[in-house]
Amino acid sequence: MVQSHFNEGELVGVLTTQPLGRVLDYKAPQGGCFAGAFVEVPLGPRKILGVVWGAGAGDYDYAKVRSVMRVLDVAPMRSEMQTFLTRAADYTLTPLDQMLRLATRAPGMGDAPGTRKVYRLGSSEPTRMTEARQAVLDVLREYGGLAFTLKELAEMAGVGTTVVKGMVKLGAVSEEDAPRDTPYPKLDPNYGGKELTADQAAGAAVLAEAVASGTYGTTLLKGVTGSGKTEVYLEAVAACLRAGRQALVLLPEIALTGEFLDRIEARFGQRPAEWHSGVTQTERRRCWRMVGLGDADVVVGARSALFLPYRDLGLIVVDEEHDTSYKQEDGVLYNARDMAVLRAAGNGAQVVLASATPSLESWANVEAGKYRRLELKSRFGPAVMPKMSAIDMRSEDLPSGHWVSPSLRAAMQLRIERGEQSLVFLNRRGYAPVTLCRACGHQIACDDCDARMVEHRFLKRLMCHQCGATKPMPTVCPHCAVEDKLSAVGPGVERMGEEVQALFPDARVVVLSSDLYGSARAMKAHIADIAAGGADIVIGTQLVAKGHNFPKLTLVGVIDADLGLQGSDLRAAERTFQLMRQVAGRAGRAEAPGEALLQTYQPEHAVIRAIVAGDEEAFWSAEAAERKAAGVPPYGRMAGIVLSGGDVQQVFDLGTAMARQDAALRRIGAQVFGPAPAPIARIRGRHRVRLLVKADKAAPLQQALAEWAAQFKLRGDLRMAIDIDPQSFY
Ligand code: ADP
Ligand code: ZN
Repeated sequence: MVQSHFNEGELVGVLTTQPLGRVLDYKAPQGGCFAGAFVEVPLGPRKILGVVWGAGAGDYDYAKVRSVMRVLDVAPMRSEMQTFLTRAADYTLTPLDQMLRLATRAPGMGDAPGTRKVYRLGSSEPTRMTEARQAVLDVLREYGGLAFTLKELAEMAGVGTTVVKGMVKLGAVSEEDAPRDTPYPKLDPNYGGKELTADQAAGAAVLAEAVASGTYGTTLLKGVTGSGKTEVYLEAVAACLRAGRQALVLLPEIALTGEFLDRIEARFGQRPAEWHSGVTQTERRRCWRMVGLGDADVVVGARSALFLPYRDLGLIVVDEEHDTSYKQEDGVLYNARDMAVLRAAGNGAQVVLASATPSLESWANVEAGKYRRLELKSRFGPAVMPKMSAIDMRSEDLPSGHWVSPSLRAAMQLRIERGEQSLVFLNRRGYAPVTLCRACGHQIACDDCDARMVEHRFLKRLMCHQCGATKPMPTVCPHCAVEDKLSAVGPGVERMGEEVQALFPDARVVVLSSDLYGSARAMKAHIADIAAGGADIVIGTQLVAKGHNFPKLTLVGVIDADLGLQGSDLRAAERTFQLMRQVAGRAGRAEAPGEALLQTYQPEHAVIRAIVAGDEEAFWSAEAAERKAAGVPPYGRMAGIVLSGGDVQQVFDLGTAMARQDAALRRIGAQVFGPAPAPIARIRGRHRVRLLVKADKAAPLQQALAEWAAQFKLRGDLRMAIDIDPQSFY
């Protein structure tokens, strides 16, 4: 049996959040401690966070071993969580300390409970308004009545704490004693269920039974947008609540949580816990602790919510499972969809993957018999899938610098006459993707990246979409110094806004793009207003493809259906197919039938034809056959290796050495390709070189990669990132 309690002075192994590469021995503190306890331990002169991972190794002079300083007053890490972190670390080739950091992202998690001061909007305006005071009020209003700690509020407003304290004296901010970390209200599974259609009820019954069984299983819940997938998986959540277990719902986009929380409240009578980067620190801490104690029934959140310390997790829903934002592309490279399955498998929990356009990976897992498949065939109520057709741009009469074809324009005109909404879709933020000097032909590029800068007219700046660097829009060409010759080339959503407004001067035109909002809350309010009919024409990026409801919308015009088909990305066709279908799915959600028009220069392209024909099965089987033949995911395994550094020669030399010393990979039949400059060969001033490793589906890839990579010492500023199952190639 694994030892679960350690008496004072016994050796324990503590995993810390420091990059030490191993578990360290400490002596159990006074009163002893349990395995899994969160502790503070001394490391050199510092005090650091750790978890009692098991018994100590005892390979160090006992007399020199230091003691655990303090056991934190939080629920200990459960053994299934330890197993999950270990497996996730092995799968993603990530050191365990980094996994632990992911699992402990709660500020002040060890602080004693009790009360503390919180700050909210007060009852009176300050008599004398200053910029700093205004900033504090803005933050408080922005978060609609939420409470902040002093430090948090001051930081978010960018002011000193004395400003806040001063406003308390004036009554503009109220100061209260609030109990820390209160439990979340109980959700009632019987509160507000809808009457389901036969199709929906059958699906819900299967999921409810699976959840009630208390065993692991994964179900792909497929159905067109509006078919009621959410209603169906909420029944799985209800079954989970009835079983007394916790449920997690992952959403791909923070902007969607607001709408979703309302739906949960309508169904279960209370709001659930929320976990994502837009939540205040105070609320994060509460969520982390309450999840551990079982005092949060349902968590709605972003992918990192998978690493919360659930007391008894019975269900994980991954909504829009195909969405690329589930792949974490920074730090620990993991795919939340895969990690959800890993987490559930060790927990006797069910996974529901919901999508109108599932990923080829999930599709293949269904085919292989690993996942169950449920399908909702039709939209709920009178709505039907929109009629889709291609507009052949080769035969449209369109002056250069314009992008709305006469055919699309006529369709929009019709919607305006009928009092319905149109959506013009272009997946490009900003005003124009290229700024060109008409005198010398120079294109303005980022100083640190191998990328052109995108004009954002709204912000009056040029922005690099790789590193986020911005600079003011110049009036003189930085290359030839000629004045007033810089011109915008190509369309972004802001520019589409101008064009559409000029075509329909009396229409209410709005541009919906994440960078035009100060906060998720502001964006949410605007989206609600649009959905209620506050606009005639919406111009939008990918943002609108993700699950917002616009009942009055009956036309979707896709400006450039070919955009995603360019480039050499393995998943280009799949992504385009998914995105176009998702966008088209925005039309005709309520009573009025919808129409989707795709502007394309290659209407005969197989992907465009499959989209227009709505022939999903044909698309997926053709795509699957191609990937099978090429031996690429999901029918083969891949890992992307990105090497980077300041000196291009050094980076390449490392790449060449890696390609040459590939015995560990050859032993499992894997092949290395490269080194080659990465598609974006420089980011933030660092040169980037890629290698690609391909192996058979059954090959033990991670082990071989670990052995291979360990041969190379990274000198100086050289870095190596290994991405298992890469989603994008940049
Ligand atoms: P999906 O998740 O597949 O896009 P939703 O679950 O959001 O679909 O359903 C689309 C709309 O139809 C929602 O407004 C939802 O409340 C409504 N709806 C779906 N099924 C039912 C039902 N059985 N009874 C009443 N309304 C329903
Ligand atoms: Zn840049």
